[in-house]
Amino acid sequence: METGTLHPMIEADKEELYALGRKMFAIPELGYKEYRTRDLILAWLQEHGFDRIERYGETGIIVTIGSGRPSIGLIAEMDAIPTPGHPQADPETGAAHSCGHSTQGAIMLESLKVLREEMKQRTGTVKLYFTPAEEFTDIAFRREYIRSGKAKYFSGKINMLMDGIFDDSDVLIHLHAMGRYEGHRFSVGSALAGFVYKEITFHGTASHAAVNPDKGVNALNMFALFQAAVGMLRETFVDEDKNRVHGIIVKGGSTVNSIPDEVVYECYVRSFKPDNLLALSAKIDQAARHCAAALGGTATISELPGDLPFYQNEDLNKVIYRNMLRHTVPAEILTDERSVAAGDIGDVGCFFPAVQFGYTGFEGYCHGRSMCVIDEREVYAVPADIVVGTVTELLDHPEEVETIKANFRPAMTKEEYLRHLEGGE
Ligand SMILES: [Zn+2]
Ligand SMILES: [Zn+2]
Repeated sequence: METGTLHPMIEADKEELYALGRKMFAIPELGYKEYRTRDLILAWLQEHGFDRIERYGETGIIVTIGSGRPSIGLIAEMDAIPTPGHPQADPETGAAHSCGHSTQGAIMLESLKVLREEMKQRTGTVKLYFTPAEEFTDIAFRREYIRSGKAKYFSGKINMLMDGIFDDSDVLIHLHAMGRYEGHRFSVGSALAGFVYKEITFHGTASHAAVNPDKGVNALNMFALFQAAVGMLRETFVDEDKNRVHGIIVKGGSTVNSIPDEVVYECYVRSFKPDNLLALSAKIDQAARHCAAALGGTATISELPGDLPFYQNEDLNKVIYRNMLRHTVPAEILTDERSVAAGDIGDVGCFFPAVQFGYTGFEGYCHGRSMCVIDEREVYAVPADIVVGTVTELLDHPEEVETIKANFRPAMTKEEYLRHLEGGE
């Protein structure tokens, strides 16, 4: 493994940076509940003399340094994901940083600290956005959170996008842990899939499971038939679309001694192409309704729009790639991958030139119970160096930022987007 030298400030700060990373990893909180994480970040900002801090919603934070153009936005996520059995899971909630979002925060805070020094000689603005609630989980809580008026949408970045929070930035730089990843140290330009969230409820009729099962209509059987149908539909999936249908049963009946009257299945339907996503979603709905009908029951389906597919800005990625090459060789950089993961950065990328690069240094896979940091230099220090190098290069070449902006075309209008958001439920 080849690796370049770090910015002298990052080299000097690295023990403090790793300690911050460990602290953030140790307080995993689910989306819209990132209060301790928020307070830790606010305390760090105060301790390090940052004073242009705005709060967004209950847990979001925006920090600004510098002034004028170009204006570069940095994005760090804050939330954890339910990962029962993870050694650092919160004992009460089961949440752990198994998607590595805490590491984004530590990297970006260190980057901001170094950039503040670098920007004493430069013109331009850097804004760091801490965005809550990326993982699409804990849905019942979020429904209530939205009902109480604390947010409008399930995903943190979607609220910020609709409120125009990113509008001050010309380009947006985001990054994400790759988990354990054989053969590569970084990724650049990875496209992400989009998804629709569904809750399918199979309705039957309860009766005594032993005395008169003939009087019942079994909702669990409807689900089993539907699962078989989805399996059969998989032969119609085209490989390059990377379609996925995956879910969990959240209710499998009411009591063992009765024929199951209600079964609730939550799932994601994913695909790379927005039109294909809608067609696949319709196929799944049809299978659910007909499988229920075949056994004498019904299925009702409610949907929420998830994340849109993410296509990264190629011009901006060239700058990231150049900065990665200060630390590695091309063979160690995964380029143009089509990951079936999704993120609400996909929605942001429809309206802004945005990128998300990947970094390694972890044991275990993302969302797995063994996902943890094993190489702190690789996880924290090297990505911070890449962020600092990329941002200073953009600040030194405002014309490059202008070209990136001029070449960028939004994927849709805000009105079309609003229709997509509100079409779900
Ligand atoms: Zn995740
Ligand atoms: Zn993630």
